[in-house]
Amino acid sequence: MTDCCIVGGGVIGLSIARELAGRGLTVRALARDAARDTTSWAAAGILPPAPQQPGLSPNAALTAWSDRLMREWAADLLVETGIDVGLRECGGLHVAATAAALERLRGTADTWRRRGARCDWLDAAALAACEPALAGAVAAGHLLGGFVLPGELQVRPSRLLDALERSCELRGVVIETADVARIEVRDGRVTGVVVDGRPGAETVQAAAYVLAAGAWTERLAAPLGLRLETRPIRGQIVMLRLPRPVLGRVVNRGLDYLVPRDDGRLLVGSTLEDAGFDPEPTATTIERLQGVARDLLGDAAEAPVERVWAGLRPGSADGLPTIGRAPGIRNAFVAAGHFRAGIHQSAGTAVLVADLVTGRPPTLDPSPFAADRPPAPPGPDSVAAMLARAAGVDA
Ligand SMILES: Cc1cc2nc3c(=O)[nH]c(=O)nc-3n(C[C@H](O)[C@H](O)[C@H](O)COP(=O)(O)OP(=O)(O)OC[C@H]3O[C@@H](n4cnc5c(N)ncnc54)[C@H](O)[C@@H]3O)c2cc1C
Repeated sequence: MTDCCIVGGGVIGLSIARELAGRGLTVRALARDAARDTTSWAAAGILPPAPQQPGLSPNAALTAWSDRLMREWAADLLVETGIDVGLRECGGLHVAATAAALERLRGTADTWRRRGARCDWLDAAALAACEPALAGAVAAGHLLGGFVLPGELQVRPSRLLDALERSCELRGVVIETADVARIEVRDGRVTGVVVDGRPGAETVQAAAYVLAAGAWTERLAAPLGLRLETRPIRGQIVMLRLPRPVLGRVVNRGLDYLVPRDDGRLLVGSTLEDAGFDPEPTATTIERLQGVARDLLGDAAEAPVERVWAGLRPGSADGLPTIGRAPGIRNAFVAAGHFRAGIHQSAGTAVLVADLVTGRPPTLDPSPFAADRPPAPPGPDSVAAMLARAAGVDA
């Protein structure tokens, strides 16, 4: 019998599959959608600095640990698969367009320094010198200053998924297209997952099961007695095709950002929308995002739109992902609710889940992420806090 069946073929499911197979387990991963239709593929791939230091919140500790692991995974994946996942320390600029936003950024800069990240304050002239493509916006008085985080990274999510998929295959993971209809539970054990649309409604059986189905986990986990909230929060992105790269760094203005790729492509994002399971980009948002690029880059942003897309982030009520055993069920585990940080937290989540599945003492304390943790007020990374920020943001 298969050792572990994973439901989910996004960055979380594939990372867990890779880690478990690397530890010698036989793994079957079931995914309804092709990798390029997942939220993981839709991500921008921004990895803010995550220095490891004492006293971090559980979420920050997971990110810091995962950040370190991702650097190792990127190097290993290149050797193993030949695919460069595009992990680059490109740095990130955080800029303000109004006096009020500039004041807020001063507070944010202090927070980054307290967290141990290098953070250099820039006045408007220094901003233009740092990224000459912003000089027009500075001269027009549209950018007043900000700061640079030299340690901000970017990764190419599409390539990360390709590399994870290839690595899984090389490690013997069986990845199947399958729409899981429900999970069957008897006497405190999962006895199988029932796949829709197959003759006789096939039941896939394994010794252990991991639910890593992103925003869809809430519904699938209900038969396990779990009340998870993985509310879908839509994010849209416009990709422009510039003839050559005009920016070196990621540029963040409030919740909007520009992410330059080495090949001249420029991602313009994003939104935080409570739109249910509707995965379609909208004309008004596409127009708004093109406006963001024009505000910041002027004529340089008058480039063809190569593609637009949207993804459904798996939200979490308190702001923490759920990673752990389903309470009262001996052979089922959950890894979901990573909201805006699933790419960044993927490697750490995979190692933590693999430790729990194989009974190895975990490197990171899993208790803050437990499925039966006590309800807590929404934290700064929660859906409620981020939707409030998106509604009231003053760039
Ligand atoms: C616009 C945007 C920008 C983002 N930017 C960043 C960023 O810069 N940095 C960062 O760290 N994160 C970012 N994120 C967040 C990140 O993308 C998510 O946190 C992460 O992708 C979640 O991964 P996942 O594997 O849990 O979910 P998904 O990628 O949604 O994968 C879920 C998987 O479950 C499968 N599935 C669902 N239901 C079923 C079923 N019934 N049967 C079988 N399979 C099923 C799906 O087919 C899919 O394979 C961004 C997200 C968006 C939308």
